[in-house]
Amino acid sequence: MARQREKDSTDDYRTLIISALKREGCLQPGKRLEWAWWRRGEKVASIGVAIESRHSMRLRYQSSSQGRDPVQHDYSVAISWTPCHMGGERPWLHCPSCNRRVGKLYSGSVFSCRHCMRLNYPSQQASRRDRPLSQAWTLRRRLGCNDGPFEYPAEYIRRPKGMHRTTFAKRIEKLARIELQAVANVETFIAALKRTTGRTLRVR
Ligand SMILES: [Zn+2]
Repeated sequence: MARQREKDSTDDYRTLIISALKREGCLQPGKRLEWAWWRRGEKVASIGVAIESRHSMRLRYQSSSQGRDPVQHDYSVAISWTPCHMGGERPWLHCPSCNRRVGKLYSGSVFSCRHCMRLNYPSQQASRRDRPLSQAWTLRRRLGCNDGPFEYPAEYIRRPKGMHRTTFAKRIEKLARIELQAVANVETFIAALKRTTGRTLRVR
């Protein structure tokens, strides 16, 4: 079973990261697994994932929101592959709502991309919450990447021509660290929002 990084912010906001699935060796056609989210050593949520083929995975889970009956979900998410500059291939997910090719999907009642979740924050203002996020955007642009942290993980960024491997590796490492913080901040923000409104955020 895959185990995601522990987070101490919230269990309300979960991501499905294709690079993590690949890293855990979960993308074999025919494979069925439980993908779980953990918090302080406790499992807080899980979904059933069945790899139907190289180009499709099926997600099965139940979602619930306050005062409502649980809803069963069972749908396919398309997978595509592109060649990787390090050799091999890199998998992508296609958002079930808009079909956009992305590295991460976010859980609402249905998993969707950051565009559908309206998580596009190329923030100019550097409030404490947004600072890591705007730093991440800046660092990504310096690496020649015009896509934001919610589009795909730092490790997917290609090394710019002429940049030394060591320099590149250091920058990616720094970026990944900042993005973890940025995501944690967004999660905290959403948890606070949910506490205020007292209901589950709607996806669309
Ligand atoms: Zn989408």
